[in-house]
Amino acid sequence: MSDSFRAVLIEDVDGKPKAGFKQLSLADLPKHDVLVEIAYSTVNYKDGLALTGGRIARKLPMVAGIDLAGTVVESSDPEWKPGDRVVVNGYGLSETQWGGYSRFQRLKSEWLVRIPDNFSLSQAMAVGTAGYTAMLCVMALEDAGLVKDDRAEALPVLVTGAAGGVGSVAVSLLAARGFKVVAATGRPDTHAYLKGLGASACIDRAELSEKGPALGKERWAAVIDSVGGQTLATAIGQTQYGGWVAACGMAGGNDMPASVFPFILRNVSLLGIDSVMAPSHRRRRAWWQLGKGLPLDKLDAMTEVQPLSAIFELAPAILAGKIRGRMVIDVNA
Ligand code: NDP
Repeated sequence: MSDSFRAVLIEDVDGKPKAGFKQLSLADLPKHDVLVEIAYSTVNYKDGLALTGGRIARKLPMVAGIDLAGTVVESSDPEWKPGDRVVVNGYGLSETQWGGYSRFQRLKSEWLVRIPDNFSLSQAMAVGTAGYTAMLCVMALEDAGLVKDDRAEALPVLVTGAAGGVGSVAVSLLAARGFKVVAATGRPDTHAYLKGLGASACIDRAELSEKGPALGKERWAAVIDSVGGQTLATAIGQTQYGGWVAACGMAGGNDMPASVFPFILRNVSLLGIDSVMAPSHRRRRAWWQLGKGLPLDKLDAMTEVQPLSAIFELAPAILAGKIRGRMVIDVNA
């Protein structure tokens, strides 16, 4: 096992968080009960913020990277054995706990989830936090009552921020379950890509970013929203009587300039989605459903793998909305 390995460490430089490459040793890692050799991490919106000076890390120094997939090397918990393939999402990685941009990490055994047998380590990270969050959104809609309706007049499910990570996986998951899906995107050049993932139609995101009537025409059976702001408010106002909106993101803003009318006159439900502290039974269910329900050809079509050495070019790109689908990071390259 290597004595020294590369990691991305966020440190305090003149009172500001600054990220850079550092050599670490196993002795530097936290004293948690499972040592994992990491193969892949990812770039999520939150990683973009953390690497560009955003105050995501709540204590420093901090190893960045909110996701990781790898293989157990040592464990003092009998539940995990050397060679087990595991994924960790959230639980404060890169905020309060050292994260995935490192060759090795020590983690609490209760954070680990077994990777479905049909996923490679790289595919597990192609899912990553974004895909697991998309699955939590689909589960929330289905638990609330969303079912496939084959009638011609049945309304579609809207996915906003569709060409992003959460959006791309949400489109694929919903389409694979037989739902009609409309993808809202600001990038016309992604329409063919989104239709390839299963969207039946694409709309310009500008349609949703203008303030509309509190109760607009009913267009959506349900919504998965990763954008927030006016987009979320408009989508709520266009959701059908008794429909559901799963809100998980803020790529377009963290406010919600909405009316109560859709809730009190149309019985629309707003479902909040958090992946970071989701309980382990829900995580295990989400990963099990991903293993069964996410078409791997669609997953591969939305994924690019880049080396950790490129991370400081990728971080501003995700914040600028320039990354399509999922970006997997090979932490050893
Ligand atoms: P990405 O950057 O991959 O995707 C975000 C997408 O949102 C972009 O691709 C773009 O889609 C759209 N978008 C970006 N800026 C704007 C804007 N100003 N107005 C309208 N649309 C915009 O990020 P992720 O998919 O990884 O994450 C999406 C959001 O979900 C983020 O806010 C993230 O923090 C949040 N998130 C929340 C989680 C939770 O636990 N609740 C977990 C994971 C993510 P397009 O190009 O198609 O228009």
